[in-house]
Amino acid sequence: MPNRDYVGRFAPSPSGPLHFGSLVCALASFLDAKRNGGVWRVRIEDIDPPREDPKHSATILAQLVNHGLQWDGEVVYQSQFLKDYQRVLDRLQTRQLTYACQCNRKRITQLGGVYDGHCDALDLADADRAIRLRVRQAIAPCTITIDDQVMGHHYQDLLREVGDFVLRRRDGLYSYQLASVIDDHRQGITHIVRGSDLLSSTPRHRYLQQCLGYSAPDYAHLPLAVDLHGNKLSKQNHAAPLNHAAPSKTLWQALAWLQQDPPKALLGAPVEAVIAWATAHWSLGRVPNVPQQPSPTDT
Ligand code: GLU
Ligand code: ZN
Repeated sequence: MPNRDYVGRFAPSPSGPLHFGSLVCALASFLDAKRNGGVWRVRIEDIDPPREDPKHSATILAQLVNHGLQWDGEVVYQSQFLKDYQRVLDRLQTRQLTYACQCNRKRITQLGGVYDGHCDALDLADADRAIRLRVRQAIAPCTITIDDQVMGHHYQDLLREVGDFVLRRRDGLYSYQLASVIDDHRQGITHIVRGSDLLSSTPRHRYLQQCLGYSAPDYAHLPLAVDLHGNKLSKQNHAAPLNHAAPSKTLWQALAWLQQDPPKALLGAPVEAVIAWATAHWSLGRVPNVPQQPSPTDT
């Protein structure tokens, strides 16, 4: 049933151009929004300058347009909202839900991914230190189940599996967790479709939403796109760039990957025709929940 209140989004970081795996995420979130009569926003998550380059933002937007994925409204850049992130952080600090942490990288690594709360009792000043959010049952539920539309129930005990997590890094940069939760709320996002590499972050988002009194969007996490050896396609392991000259073929391949069963006759059709077919036939229920390799288009 069309949901006129649907607001979806695609939120790439400009750490490199889109590759097949990130294009699949963009396409799926676009189609889910459009099939539901909703709007689709694009937000550039450019708050980690050491890992990013503004030139990639322009490339990503051009790639979206090239593949017929036209967003609604203005593109939002997170770097323009740093004051908002600080304001929310101040609110959490005033409520004494955060503390400064001076642990070095070596110690954090030794802890193996679950912070032990060591600095909580030290009452350190904030300057030049990471700021962590307290994960306590007394603040908000710490055992969290996400009812994911693709992955099903995803359970995490934040206390045991994550611990108090970073909202602002020692270098002053705001964490992905903080910024994305604030922006999804400010932009009125109701549905999030993204890669399953972020599923393990989602319980932290849910916890933060509860601390801040935000409502929770619906989630759908797509399986990873992997190569023939089962390795994740990513910017880090140099996934092949998208072919700018053959967007229609890539879209067809992405639809096959998403198990939408595109007809052979659509292969090589104009981009607009592929998007129109895909929007009319989109079914989130068909999206697989295990890692997928890109399927060949020429068999
Ligand atoms: N900016 C994140 C990334 O590119 C995705 C954020 C999100 O979809 O929540 O990996
Ligand atoms: Zn610490």
